[in-house]
Amino acid sequence: MNTEHSFIDADVLIIGGGSAGAMAAIRAKEVNPDQKVVVFEKGQMKYSGCIARGMDAMNIVAIPDIATAELYVESNSIACEGIMDEPVNYKMAERSYEMMKKLESWDVCFPKDDNGDYEVLKIHPKGRFCVTMKEPELKAILANKALDLGVLVMNRTMAVRLLKDGERISGAIGMNVRTGEMLVCRAKSVILSSGGTARFGLPDNGHLYGVYDFPGNTGDGYCLAYRAGAELSGFEYTLVYYITKDINAPLLYITLTRGATLLNAFDERRDQDHPNPAKMLLEHMDGKGPIRIRMDHLPEEKIKEIEEILFTTERPACERFHAGRDNDFRTGEIEMWPTEVYLCGGHGLTGVRVNENAETNVPGLYAAGDTSLVARGHLSGALVIGEVAAESASEYAAGNGEVTLDDDQVESFKRELETRLAQKNNPIAIEEFEFKVRRMISDYLKPPKNEYKLDRALWWMDRFRKELKTMVRVANVHDLFKCFEVENIIQSATMCAIASKERKESRWSPWHYRTDYPEKNDAEWKKHIVLTCGSVPEDVKVSYKPIIKMEGRV
Ligand SMILES: Cc1cc2nc3c(=O)[nH]c(=O)nc-3n(C[C@H](O)[C@H](O)[C@H](O)COP(=O)(O)OP(=O)(O)OC[C@H]3O[C@@H](n4cnc5c(N)ncnc54)[C@H](O)[C@@H]3O)c2cc1C
Repeated sequence: MNTEHSFIDADVLIIGGGSAGAMAAIRAKEVNPDQKVVVFEKGQMKYSGCIARGMDAMNIVAIPDIATAELYVESNSIACEGIMDEPVNYKMAERSYEMMKKLESWDVCFPKDDNGDYEVLKIHPKGRFCVTMKEPELKAILANKALDLGVLVMNRTMAVRLLKDGERISGAIGMNVRTGEMLVCRAKSVILSSGGTARFGLPDNGHLYGVYDFPGNTGDGYCLAYRAGAELSGFEYTLVYYITKDINAPLLYITLTRGATLLNAFDERRDQDHPNPAKMLLEHMDGKGPIRIRMDHLPEEKIKEIEEILFTTERPACERFHAGRDNDFRTGEIEMWPTEVYLCGGHGLTGVRVNENAETNVPGLYAAGDTSLVARGHLSGALVIGEVAAESASEYAAGNGEVTLDDDQVESFKRELETRLAQKNNPIAIEEFEFKVRRMISDYLKPPKNEYKLDRALWWMDRFRKELKTMVRVANVHDLFKCFEVENIIQSATMCAIASKERKESRWSPWHYRTDYPEKNDAEWKKHIVLTCGSVPEDVKVSYKPIIKMEGRV
């Protein structure tokens, strides 16, 4: 592999073409059609990310006369147990209805009943915000829109380093994951929208890629931001979802909101209050699982409706999966099980800290979607904050002049690359190594946690960091990218262990449950734990930041 590079210029560079990145690209062209907008996407933008195809709901929409942005902030603050900045969440909810109408104007289907009303479900502690969507082509619609507007999409391009001009961001280095070709993009502003750390713990099905969230998301956005000097938070929020056993595919809201029943292992009903993965997980951990879904009492048309959503909009592979297990929804039941542990801003609270303009603390650097900390923002957060980031990044690009590329930063990366490529005779295959790293993450970072386990996690991650350089084989381009990904998984785990050790209380049960500090302690811990990079990436600095309120408005 040669280490020559090609070069492009951009006004706005977007890293990750998932929900947030695609919407950011569209918005950047809408606000300034003349500016050059480039997307680095690790996969193929039409089918990459959490919405590989479509989605069955937009979880947060404040529809006038049904809910308000104020009520959402109140409701989500309860769900986040107080660890939530209000202004950015308010902005997201305030623009959510406008976003839904925009999608509708692109023929995205939000079904209406005979009275012309949307189907709005209650899945939050207060208010109804979850609007049913029925759009198997959502991702292709977004990707095509961006391409039609003239966005330059570099598919199969993984961002591996951010570049800086003094304090300001100046672009990124990308590499084609199939050919290894290196591409340097000089950019006046950069938006990070490369998801969370989906490949974190090891799923029980044993497949490295058989995870709940998109497997191409390996914490790259977190690590790029961190190395560039951005503040991160919420790494102690270790999510474990509760979903269809083995395939880890969505099911819960699609079936329960259409009349399915939820039973524990003793046939006790569990669907009375609103479906709650945390409560199901607790029940499972208490030995009363697995929790199962039954639909045999539902009329045929409801079953057909569920099958249609599940087998088209969500994941077409579900049809083959359920057929293979003899799961006939008319007669049988569907078993659920805990997923692997993972980190994410959309379902969780992990991410790069941003304000209501999607700005990080690094000039010219913005973040959106699961990479950013817009607590539990889901798809609505990705789309709305994607737009907000594009508006801010475009304004910054227009108002702050040219940036200069520092060739030394590019050359330093090339030297790193050469060192990695020299690992071609090392004994351990990267897949085996990833398996071990993620097994240790499952052992020591999956809740319940305690100081002993967290110290073991840190010991292992330190060792893995060294072994990645001394033991792992890099025989081809494929191995090289896996190496970059595993490096980010290890860094995510280090940050997770440090933040988890720091928060000496239990919160978000069971997701940050510390058996050595089993009580919630608002007096001391109702604050953000913030991580920043010291002299080297493994030197993680810890500080605290207060929760930001919107006094007088909410
Ligand atoms: C299975 C599932 C079901 C969900 N259902 C719902 C729902 O019904 N309603 C709802 O509101 N929300 C739902 N969500 C949440 C919502 O989909 C996500 O919060 C949102 O889509 C995240 O968007 P994103 O752009 O941040 O991440 P993604 O859409 O995952 O995009 C990240 C992109 O970055 C790319 N990437 C990663 N690393 C790099 C790199 N180094 N360089 C270049 N590119 C990179 C990836 O290839 C990917 O395309 C669901 C999530 C999942 C996983």
